[in-house]
Amino acid sequence: TKMKKHNYSAGPCILPQEVFEKSAQAILNFNNSDLSLLEISHRSKDFVAVMEEARALVLELLGLENKGYQALFLHGGASMQFLMTPYNLMKSDGKAAYLDTGTWANNAIKEAKHFGETLIVGSSKEANYNFIPKNIEIPSDANYFHCTSNNTIFGTQMKSFPKTNVPLVCDMSSDIFSRTLDFSQFDLIYAGAQKNMGPAGATLVVVKEEILGKTGRYIPSMLDYEKHIKAESMYNTPPVFPIYASLLTLQWLKKLGGIAAIEKINEQKAQLLYTEIDRNPLFKGTAVTEDRSNMNATFVLTDESLTEKFDTMWKAAGISGLTGHRSVGGYRASMYNALPLESVEALVNVMKELEKKCS
Ligand code: PMP
Repeated sequence: TKMKKHNYSAGPCILPQEVFEKSAQAILNFNNSDLSLLEISHRSKDFVAVMEEARALVLELLGLENKGYQALFLHGGASMQFLMTPYNLMKSDGKAAYLDTGTWANNAIKEAKHFGETLIVGSSKEANYNFIPKNIEIPSDANYFHCTSNNTIFGTQMKSFPKTNVPLVCDMSSDIFSRTLDFSQFDLIYAGAQKNMGPAGATLVVVKEEILGKTGRYIPSMLDYEKHIKAESMYNTPPVFPIYASLLTLQWLKKLGGIAAIEKINEQKAQLLYTEIDRNPLFKGTAVTEDRSNMNATFVLTDESLTEKFDTMWKAAGISGLTGHRSVGGYRASMYNALPLESVEALVNVMKELEKKCS
């Protein structure tokens, strides 16, 4: 088979090759049923089994089995969670605390403001979000605290999370399943599928049931976590294909040794690239060292006039998707779980090559 690209896309992004192959096969003939995954009822025995296994495997990989959590696969992307979170957790006369670490955190804040008092307890906006605010104070009467574990656009990542007595809510869209954490410190985790889990179209929500049902507000059925839990994540027709492909990715991760195993590889990849960014005088990282992300490395050329040359070189080396987010420019190397170490080696070689050509 033809060598695929070194795919640095920030999301949707690279998934394991076996997930592409197995999910393609399921579209043609699912479980040897002589039917496509796409033409059977979501309430068929075969699909209900997919949903059950996917929900269970999420909790298993996160170490959250039998701890009062439920895993849901919903529609609407992580952006829908920006409003489902306040709908389900902010009391009608309540307030919530938010950490402002980037574009996505900001979008979450914008939605929360429509539900009640929304305190921004820390922000790195003035520094173009190149660091994670530390030593933040969370009011003990807030209904919850919301943070973004990995800032996809700015390349920063929270290495620790505040200890607080209020429910801890985290948008983990771009680093879920990438590193070991004590996931039981969180009361609600959500993530769009389209980075470390599967195709776009499904959103993972992991929620501790005991925090629900306390707001006193009317919650539209489709936005009500309790209704989705009661319906075992089948309140309406779920996005069957993204869920199936997500299950395949979760199975791949389990086979590999789970989050602890992939974390080691992710650290290797990030270290290789950051070492080169720090060493090579032609490049500069944009996030402060202690907060930089192992998933999305953001960097710029120290001499912008080399842009065309560098771009031509990495494209010729089979690298794809290295351009930074349209709102910040520069470069962004997204090194999600399925990106092999060889792809990072290919990029580092191009960076060294550029240095040679310029000396
Ligand atoms: N949060 C983060 C951290 C993201 O990276 C993204 C998308 N890249 C979103 C939220 C929005 O996700 P969606 O497109 O699924 O709504």
